[in-house]
Amino acid sequence: MNDQTVFDLIEAEHQRQIEGIELIASENFTSETVMKATGSILTNKYAEGLPGRRYYGGCEVVDQIEQLAIDRLKSLFNLTWANVQPHSGSQANAAVMLACLNPGDKIMGFDLSHGGHLTHGSPVNFSGKLYKNVFYGVEKETGKIDYTKLVEIARKEKPKMIILGASAYSRDWDYKIVREVADEIGAVILADISHPAGLIAAKLLNDPFDYCHIVTTTTHKTLRGPRGGVIMMRNDFENPWGIKTPKGELRKMSALLDSGVFPGTQGGPLEHLIAAKAVAFGEALKPAFKTYQEQVIKNAKVMAQGLVDLGFDIISGGTDNHSMLIDLRSKNITGKAAEIALGKADITVNKNMVPFDDKSPFVTSGIRIGTPAVTTRGLKENDIQKIVALIDQVINNHENEAELANIKVAVKSLMTKFPIYAW
Ligand code: PLP
Repeated sequence: MNDQTVFDLIEAEHQRQIEGIELIASENFTSETVMKATGSILTNKYAEGLPGRRYYGGCEVVDQIEQLAIDRLKSLFNLTWANVQPHSGSQANAAVMLACLNPGDKIMGFDLSHGGHLTHGSPVNFSGKLYKNVFYGVEKETGKIDYTKLVEIARKEKPKMIILGASAYSRDWDYKIVREVADEIGAVILADISHPAGLIAAKLLNDPFDYCHIVTTTTHKTLRGPRGGVIMMRNDFENPWGIKTPKGELRKMSALLDSGVFPGTQGGPLEHLIAAKAVAFGEALKPAFKTYQEQVIKNAKVMAQGLVDLGFDIISGGTDNHSMLIDLRSKNITGKAAEIALGKADITVNKNMVPFDDKSPFVTSGIRIGTPAVTTRGLKENDIQKIVALIDQVINNHENEAELANIKVAVKSLMTKFPIYAW
């Protein structure tokens, strides 16, 4: 049976993705193999529980698939424990918080308006509704995290959990300094590496696992897998905070986290996505993945420098990773207007608050851009320079519809040279 209506729309989205320049920092293009596993018959299977310990029959095959995903993820990050079932990054964070905290406990996260994520304590999210929140942020002058202030806030507020990680922060993290204060106040550190996970897997950024008790990530950003989340630990541990199961038992952190996922916050795992995660982790274990991640960073650095040379204000002055946040106030255009104008030229970005923004989240003073998706398509430094020029052209002509239409043609002609899927 054909459903022409839906499949015509899927084809329209396919064309949009291949004709345009994808600069959303949290997006990527998966391999065809990841896509194939995502669209497989595994979507038919229920498998509540863990491999070898299910609440459903007929799980012999999915057990092997899920175990493969776990084992490959463990090799990738040198772990002793992982759970690959979270349906998304938000679900992974929810499961960790459910496992480690009681309602009303205090958590400390990176300020959303400085680049943090909703699940790190925002009042509109479960994490801000169920737990008391305090935030750390960046220094106004440098745009970099103010670790002295972070330590000061942690000492004063004594949060039970410190959350590291961001959605829009272009610098590497100092995990060691945070571990020192966490040990002093008895806090759990959750590192949410959703954005730089692929770069960390390729050993191009600081390794959070030696310092952070629990690490979560999405699997679909730099890691280039299907949409989803995972929870990881390099070392399991007897929880020193006296955290108990609902039955009042003291158990190891791994057991608490497993039950934080199921039955805590999810029902049946999505085994088709878990198979796709296994494929993606297998790809990430190959040497080509490191070469790809190196190119992601090279491209991001060229993009940041190119924009700075054209008078754009990059928060913190540059990037260590795949992304950057541009403060557009010096260009007299809002993030919203820039997103719309770039969109008309088929350059996809997202508007984003910048630290100390004076505009609302619906308008914003900035845009966030990143290089994972264009790097997957094969673009190198000289192509990135062309993109920088196109962005500049759009911003300078954002109200000139004819010029935006001309730029769209140039965008399509550039991207046709970088085919992505065989179909
Ligand atoms: N954590 C961080 C740092 C993120 O940037 C994101 C998504 O952008 C998430 C968590 C949530 O991931 P998901 O959209 O899969 O729930």
